[in-house]
Amino acid sequence: MAAQANSQLHIENVVARILSETQDKTADKIAAWKKPSDDLRRLLRHDYVRSLRKNLPYQELKALIAGFSNLLPGFNREVVGMYSTNGLAEWAAVLDVHFNAAPNEGEEGLALRGFYVNRKEGTLKRPLIYVNTAHHPLAVSSTFLHEVGHHMSSEILGGNEHTPVHFFIDGDYASHLEEPAELAADVMVSIAGYPEPIARKIFATAWEWGLVARAKDLTEAALSEVRRHLKKVYGFDLTEQIPAAQMLHYLSGTIHFAKLRWALLSEYDI
Ligand SMILES: [Zn+2]
Repeated sequence: MAAQANSQLHIENVVARILSETQDKTADKIAAWKKPSDDLRRLLRHDYVRSLRKNLPYQELKALIAGFSNLLPGFNREVVGMYSTNGLAEWAAVLDVHFNAAPNEGEEGLALRGFYVNRKEGTLKRPLIYVNTAHHPLAVSSTFLHEVGHHMSSEILGGNEHTPVHFFIDGDYASHLEEPAELAADVMVSIAGYPEPIARKIFATAWEWGLVARAKDLTEAALSEVRRHLKKVYGFDLTEQIPAAQMLHYLSGTIHFAKLRWALLSEYDI
């Protein structure tokens, strides 16, 4: 028991240290977080198929999906539900990673969704996932999945180890599209929320399939299908549940994960 309590204290200290360094290490991203409409505009215009082709080769994608399917047998066939903090802790234990979940509010605390630390950082024996529970439970679960994506990437594909701490700053999806490790992690979140049968239903009908130039734009019809899906499966409603100050960041997330899912279907037929 004493050893366990010691280890827990050690993890809390590591998390506190990284939290205190977040502002310095992600200053540019936090500045961008304060102007969420800029990123939102970039996402709306962005060609997701091009980013996928460039940053996530098909073989790597297949390997990651296989890894997630070992962990979650219905992955990409059924929706991955929302997990409570205890549920996430159990999952972390199966993965053999350290886990910490706590609210990080403060003035700019909400900018941070969570982070993944690989085992080479300082004194850690195992990798560490931290999630900021000041966010909506669906965001907390999604952050966890994103961090598991980093973990699986480094376990299955190797690499990643030169970045000791991966910070997830809310709304910062435009930069994820340019960074292979971040994009791969987001793809897993996207598949979790839109498994293939649902993705085919939403995106094959609501998007303009034949018009490649226009396909990268989310139509209003598709966006309302996406919102209906999130409400039905997660009880999530952007306009009813999210405080005004966070609304644009969450709208960016909604659009980002939907466009990513459409691009996976369109480019890789997954
Ligand atoms: Zn990340």
